[in-house]
Amino acid sequence: MKVIEHMRSAKETLLSFEILPPLKGKDIRSIYAGIDPLMEFGPSFINVTYHREEVVYKERGHGLLQKVRVRKRPGTIGICAAIKAKYEIDTVPHLICGGFSREETEDALIEMNFLGIDNVLALRGDPTKGENHFVPERDGHAHAVDMVYQIAELNRGKYLHEEEEEAAPTDLCIGAACYPEKHPEALNLATDIAYLKQKVDAGAEYLVTQMFFDVDRYFDFVGRCRNEGIHVPILPGLKPLTSLRQIAFIPKTFHVDLPEALSKELLKCRSDQDVRGVGIAWCVDQARRLRDGKAPCLHFYTMGRSEAVRQVLDQVM
Ligand code: FAD
Repeated sequence: MKVIEHMRSAKETLLSFEILPPLKGKDIRSIYAGIDPLMEFGPSFINVTYHREEVVYKERGHGLLQKVRVRKRPGTIGICAAIKAKYEIDTVPHLICGGFSREETEDALIEMNFLGIDNVLALRGDPTKGENHFVPERDGHAHAVDMVYQIAELNRGKYLHEEEEEAAPTDLCIGAACYPEKHPEALNLATDIAYLKQKVDAGAEYLVTQMFFDVDRYFDFVGRCRNEGIHVPILPGLKPLTSLRQIAFIPKTFHVDLPEALSKELLKCRSDQDVRGVGIAWCVDQARRLRDGKAPCLHFYTMGRSEAVRQVLDQVM
């Protein structure tokens, strides 16, 4: 079932999770171990992130370094199919422009379609390490909007090189990303929202936000989007903070602010356990306020750790 159909038939705020594929060499059972404790809360769908290959340097002795390209977390589409079969739940593979030609994008979409996956989250991806701006493949997409358009075309039966009358249309529900605190490369929130509207006009049926810690910013953002003519559901992304390391890592990596009231409490923390207590309490409050404000779905970023999300849901559901 499509994410948008879940939204349309929902009587209350839904629940969904984002998970990461396991590191290469780990078993799919590590994925199930993360999902199992969350299933009792009745999520409507599960997203699986996509990770492009990275350049790493391997020591080869005598001071020699070998440059190799590795994908540390492969298997997004296969994992989606496996989760769908095991739990009979809808899945949403993420697909990025980075590292993909348009043909490779089409192949991935065909694969999803053949596997009975009804959804895809269309993303640009970040610049690779060492690049200071995003560089598309020679025949790839420079922005997520171009991928959204390609998927919408495929849904209309328009493949890249096939004759129209021979081609079976896909029927993928298209999601896209948005940023209540603006995307880091955007000049300002207004231009970011103008580009966001292009994604919706091209065929994105719903949007998922970057994680945020200030609920007011989510509601302000939704209001601005509505004023600019974006009327699709906007799903808030939530992440409970759980470690001292995350306090520094999350604002820098995801370009989000920690509200003063939260940072005040975090600065008193001396251990991961202290942070966990503060982070979970904060996230519980966010989830309740979002639900009271009729957010369509609470979308939790598990980042490979489901225990904290479970502790939040124990108090919220
Ligand atoms: P875009 O929509 O292309 O926007 C990128 C920037 O370009 C923005 O500043 C925007 O304002 C600007 N822009 C957009 N269109 C145009 C245009 N036509 N002309 C000029 N400027 C334009 N990354 C991964 O690698 N794998 C994942 O699985 C993944 N999952 C994510 C899930 C969510 C919910 C979110 C919020 C992010 C995720 N990301 C993931 C990160 C994402 O790939 C990065 O944030 C990336 O830098 C931007 O992706 P986008 O799809 O928002 O890009």
